[in-house]
Amino acid sequence: MVNFRSARGGRKASAITHKQSLPQARNLKSFDVLVVGGGPTGSLAAYTLAKGGIDVAILEKEKVPRYKVCGGGLQGKSLRCLPFQVSEVVEREIFGMVFQLRLKNKFIRRYPLPISYNVNRERFDYLLLKHAQEAGAVLLQEAKVCSLEVSRDSVKVFTERETLGGRVIIGADGAHSVVRKAINPKGSMQGQMGIICELKRGENTSHVPEDIYIIDWGTVPGGYAWIFPKEGILTTGAMVPLVLSGSLKGYLQAFLRGQGLGMGGERVLAHPIPTRGPGETISTTWGLLAGDAAGLTDPFTGEGLYYALRSGEMAARWAGEFLKSGADLRGYEEEIEQKLMPEIIIAWKLRNFFNTFSGYVHNLYKKNDRLWCSFCEMLRGEITLEEGVRRTGIVTNLRNRPPQPIRGYIERFTAWYESRQIERFKRSKPPW
Ligand SMILES: Cc1cc2nc3c(=O)[nH]c(=O)nc-3n(C[C@H](O)[C@H](O)[C@H](O)COP(=O)(O)OP(=O)(O)OC[C@H]3O[C@@H](n4cnc5c(N)ncnc54)[C@H](O)[C@@H]3O)c2cc1C
Repeated sequence: MVNFRSARGGRKASAITHKQSLPQARNLKSFDVLVVGGGPTGSLAAYTLAKGGIDVAILEKEKVPRYKVCGGGLQGKSLRCLPFQVSEVVEREIFGMVFQLRLKNKFIRRYPLPISYNVNRERFDYLLLKHAQEAGAVLLQEAKVCSLEVSRDSVKVFTERETLGGRVIIGADGAHSVVRKAINPKGSMQGQMGIICELKRGENTSHVPEDIYIIDWGTVPGGYAWIFPKEGILTTGAMVPLVLSGSLKGYLQAFLRGQGLGMGGERVLAHPIPTRGPGETISTTWGLLAGDAAGLTDPFTGEGLYYALRSGEMAARWAGEFLKSGADLRGYEEEIEQKLMPEIIIAWKLRNFFNTFSGYVHNLYKKNDRLWCSFCEMLRGEITLEEGVRRTGIVTNLRNRPPQPIRGYIERFTAWYESRQIERFKRSKPPW
């Protein structure tokens, strides 16, 4: 028997047992696939499975619709991953950005087409869940999964109220994933911590535009702060590397002060944004991790919805193949390595590069139209991050590409430099 601890409390939460055979309990509700978590990852996985005629249930710990700590910025490339329209929950289309470096040096850039879409996560996630249900998935609300028991050909999942059986489990239960503890008990996720404060629209916010993002970068190494406009509110927030979490609230307050805004009595909520390292286990013979549970997020921007939708769909496809033809579920991990990890690794490198040469990159965004347009095309999903980087020639240039040893040197240097900045920041007085 292997014990594991709950991600939140450190309290002994449950146990996983691997048995040769499991006597079927009487009246055990069983499904082909159990999806743990009813966020975007879980909903899209369940939708895909149900559309393929597979018997699937979503176990969601909250009563839905539920609030989610998130900026709600949905890039065009994320919209392209959705097999249905979500325009009814898009509250603002975004046509540009104000970039600000170290709480000053502001400039604005605009683009003729929408580069991002702002959604309220409560409404967005609920819509996705409804699509999954309409496709045939069973939704079990207020069904918090506490533990799993694995046998040769099935898995039992214990919620606070009942026990369910499934042949495959998809862990889509977010940053504090219980399923991750079972699939990868020794795993250690790196990542960021984010906070959100929603400001009500009113006279004191009327100077903030409705159709652009305002961001500040370079103030806290590896982090940034933002304002995302929505229906009747401004979602403001910041994210920083986990080790600098203590600076988050002060940073957000300083950023908002600079925009002529202030936090009143609004709630400030924090939530981690885990990022997977290459090779980190996210699949086993009976289960798969996807979305935040797998640490599939962009380490530079904290964007996770795109990876949630992509990996949710992939996990569903592999679960379906397993049920149909006995495919080895570990093939899912290979697909993630090939299709999603290259972008995440590039985002790490870009983040390191930006933190080393932030003044230079900031000025490039101001003056270089090619860079700005490539960035917008990338957000819109017209080109990949890798293509965008190549086109702009910041790190590599197709025509005048630095030889591999030099690129390797730049990458090692910028990674080292960013970690040194983080260490320094930890020890010094914050600049606000
Ligand atoms: C401050 C902040 C700002 C962000 N801003 C953006 C942004 O602007 N754009 C963007 O793309 N991404 C953003 N992200 C990241 C994004 O929120 C996540 O990547 C995304 O929500 C991942 O979706 P998911 O379905 O994997 O997980 P989640 O959305 O976290 O959903 C997991 C679900 O599982 C349920 N659950 C958890 N544990 C259990 C359990 N034991 N049993 C049953 N159910 C369980 C939860 O209640 C939840 O509904 C932000 C994150 C943070 C923290």
